[in-house]
Amino acid sequence: MPPPPDFTSTTLFPSLSSIPLPSIPTVSIDASDLTFVEPPTLPKASDPNPAYYLLAEVKHNMTITKPTLICKDRDGVEFALTFNDEQLDLKARGLKKGNCVVVPNARLIPSEKEGGSGYVQVFKGEGEFVRGLPGGLEGVVRAGRRMREAQEGRCWVCAKREAEGEEQVRLRRCTGCGVVRYCSKECQTRDWSEGGHRGECKVMKGIREIWPDA
Ligand SMILES: [Zn+2]
Ligand SMILES: [Zn+2]
Repeated sequence: MPPPPDFTSTTLFPSLSSIPLPSIPTVSIDASDLTFVEPPTLPKASDPNPAYYLLAEVKHNMTITKPTLICKDRDGVEFALTFNDEQLDLKARGLKKGNCVVVPNARLIPSEKEGGSGYVQVFKGEGEFVRGLPGGLEGVVRAGRRMREAQEGRCWVCAKREAEGEEQVRLRRCTGCGVVRYCSKECQTRDWSEGGHRGECKVMKGIREIWPDA
């Protein structure tokens, strides 16, 4: 199992202010050499290998006609995320208050006002590529870090390795997230009640659904 993406990477998960803007090709005006210039290709949410993702926490739903969410990015900046898909069911996609939203190749529409943060627009037909994660920003970043740590083949609680020493240790994965491993029912129960896995299990499952190779 390869590790999940590194949520602390500001290149892969930029804040709103560092979303790359599409570059517009420059046209040289020369009548003798008039060539057709392709319009800039904008990154799409549907791209199978997105260059980056906007990860933000949903603060509230502000839908009037177009589905619109007010979100907070990793720098604590609030912005609107609008979908040009009036039929999109935000709740069914896990896009509700307190959860995180993941927008592949998010497109920032810069503010016309000086100092404005701009907003993010998801074009028609791209809403289905925007996913929700069942936890806030802090919880998602922590779950991602713990998923990377869980790569090592040890019991998540007592650190016992498989087939160590005389005793046959068999590690079993949590069936909820399929990420963390335990040597025994005791270790699993302890992690669920005291270790905080109760809260992070569904977040880890959600991360694996978005990044299935994780
Ligand atoms: Zn154990
Ligand atoms: Zn789990």
